[in-house]
Amino acid sequence: MSSTSVALCGFVGGVGGLLTAWPAYRFSVAWGEPPRSTCATCGFSFTTWVRLKHRCAGCGTVSAVNPVWTALAGATSFALLAWALPVSFFLIACLFMALSGVLLSVVDLKVQRLPDPLVLVTFLGTAALLTLHAAVTGTWPQYARGWLGGGALLLAYLVFAVLPGAPMGLGDVKLAGVLGLVLGYAGWSSVFLGAILPFVVNGPFAVVALIRRGRKARSPFGPALLVAWLIVVVFAAHP
Ligand SMILES: [Zn+2]
Repeated sequence: MSSTSVALCGFVGGVGGLLTAWPAYRFSVAWGEPPRSTCATCGFSFTTWVRLKHRCAGCGTVSAVNPVWTALAGATSFALLAWALPVSFFLIACLFMALSGVLLSVVDLKVQRLPDPLVLVTFLGTAALLTLHAAVTGTWPQYARGWLGGGALLLAYLVFAVLPGAPMGLGDVKLAGVLGLVLGYAGWSSVFLGAILPFVVNGPFAVVALIRRGRKARSPFGPALLVAWLIVVVFAAHP
């Protein structure tokens, strides 16, 4: 892709990232609770899902992650993907995954969970776009390998998750399965890298959490999964 197109794609990712900060705040609730509909401090009702400010309109309390960070994450991931991959539905699937990833990462960092509805929408969107890519390019064997790769990563992370002292939960297992769809489409070496690299990415954060909060500390694993996925897709996967 030309540098103008890469920059344009990065800009679109930046705008997309900017808009994820507010929904991420509303989805950052404890397990089993519906998305946040009022301010925890003043009770102000939230009526919209689109909002650029990260302070409550009622009381001014800082309510969400600063949208500058989500915009930067969106812009960086979109520009990297556009730089690495040719224009295709596979690229669009990766962009969709990346933007969902920004949303999921913020929620995971805030409340240490990956809400099922968000992971489900990410799965359905990614699967639909990969199916379109296979239909347009006729790469059905690679498409089938995508489902196998997704299944393999799901099973591998299920085994990791039940091991004592595992840093990940069932939300991470499901997300690994969705990421595996894309990695499997690219090839088995990508699936293998995508299984190992999250532990490398998570390593320094796990050590810091251990030092600061002791052995019982649980730190979110979703962002490590997503960052590792992005690295593999950008630098290793060429379907
Ligand atoms: Zn408020």
